[in-house]
Amino acid sequence: MTERQAPPEDGTGNPASTPLNPFSIDFSGDAGSSDGSVPVGGGFAPIAIESDVDRAPTGVSVDTGRGGRTDTKLLIIGSGPAGLTAAIYGARANLEPIVLAGSAPGGQLMITSDVENYPGFPDGIQGPDLMALFRAQAERFGSHIVDVDVDRVDLSERPFRAWARGVEYTGQAVIIATGASALWLGLESETRLRGRGVSACATCDGFFFRDKEIAVVGGGDTAFEEALFLTRFASRIHMLHRRENFRASKIMQDRAVAHPKIDIHPNRIVDEVLGEHHVEGLRLRDRVSGEPEKMEVEGLFVAIGYKPNTEIFKGWLDVDPMGYLEVRDETGSKIEGVFIAGDVHDHRYRQAVTAAGDGCRAAIDAERWLEAQGVTESSTATAW
Ligand SMILES: Cc1cc2nc3c(=O)[nH]c(=O)nc-3n(C[C@H](O)[C@H](O)[C@H](O)COP(=O)(O)OP(=O)(O)OC[C@H]3O[C@@H](n4cnc5c(N)ncnc54)[C@H](O)[C@@H]3O)c2cc1C
Repeated sequence: MTERQAPPEDGTGNPASTPLNPFSIDFSGDAGSSDGSVPVGGGFAPIAIESDVDRAPTGVSVDTGRGGRTDTKLLIIGSGPAGLTAAIYGARANLEPIVLAGSAPGGQLMITSDVENYPGFPDGIQGPDLMALFRAQAERFGSHIVDVDVDRVDLSERPFRAWARGVEYTGQAVIIATGASALWLGLESETRLRGRGVSACATCDGFFFRDKEIAVVGGGDTAFEEALFLTRFASRIHMLHRRENFRASKIMQDRAVAHPKIDIHPNRIVDEVLGEHHVEGLRLRDRVSGEPEKMEVEGLFVAIGYKPNTEIFKGWLDVDPMGYLEVRDETGSKIEGVFIAGDVHDHRYRQAVTAAGDGCRAAIDAERWLEAQGVTESSTATAW
């Protein structure tokens, strides 16, 4: 497990405030945080979450998946806003859900800091704190959460089966909420400064860059959409693309070219994000001449795409041309009893609140389906 760093100080003893992230967040992706508590940043007191895990003598707990329940009416794969909302609803409908949380318990919001658009938090909330609250609420109603990655599923018949770390889990219904992963450039400096000026979500973080000069990297429609959206906040936007030609549609390119705040730089490779505690600039290289160049910006938006986490469902469920799961009849799939929620199918909205809403819908659909199959006794509609 990677140790969480102490927040940098601003000389007053207070954590230094930087765009996006006044606190330090562990971006290691280390799954070792399966101690029943979700790592938290600042703002809220850390929330200790009791979960059904094996406690190791060191005090560090490891959720092995052994010793807990493995058979359930409702199996949920994924523990982002969609999976944990489904768990809250499923648990309150007495479906006793098991959540296989994956190696990124809490999902994408664990790698961001300020979340200012989730309803109910007028002062904003840190992403990890929000997900700790989701998890605590799911566990309060009896969800059993296991921090393991599912490596294989068998959806051929009921009960549906999923395997993780050699343990077989079975569910009469399944909700798939495995989300999507933002693609990153893969630079050490980019990882270090994520949430400190580096972002992959303009809708989420654009607001923090009011009157600042920033860069957007990417060559497709998404990059242009992000750049155009960011013109509402930033004073100047540099669009960087490693190739001569952009993949984006002509109309998007024309809009960007015509925009007085956007400068377009083809053939630029980002070699390093500069800055100790927050983004101060970029070290670029001209792909054609090889000439290095320094660009002073306070933010970098990486808009090179998302990868939906659908690998283990290939062959079982349909995916669209971009690899996202296809839903049928609201939250269903081509297999009856298998439901889909959140970013794993939704590349349009990609927000925590829409993913949570989807998790709610999928749980209600699953509950009604289970009732129709005679797995649950009577309508629990009032339990919602
Ligand atoms: C940098 C950044 C900042 C953002 N900021 C905001 C914001 O301010 N406001 C906002 O509304 N949205 C924000 N978003 C978007 C938001 O995080 C997502 O829309 C939301 O998290 C999607 O929820 P989800 O539950 O569908 O999937 P995810 O959050 O992606 O969660 C997926 C879950 O599936 C699990 N999983 C994956 N594969 C497996 C497997 N094989 N077995 C078991 N589990 C698996 C993962 O461990 C994870 O728990 C941000 C996104 C990013 C990347």
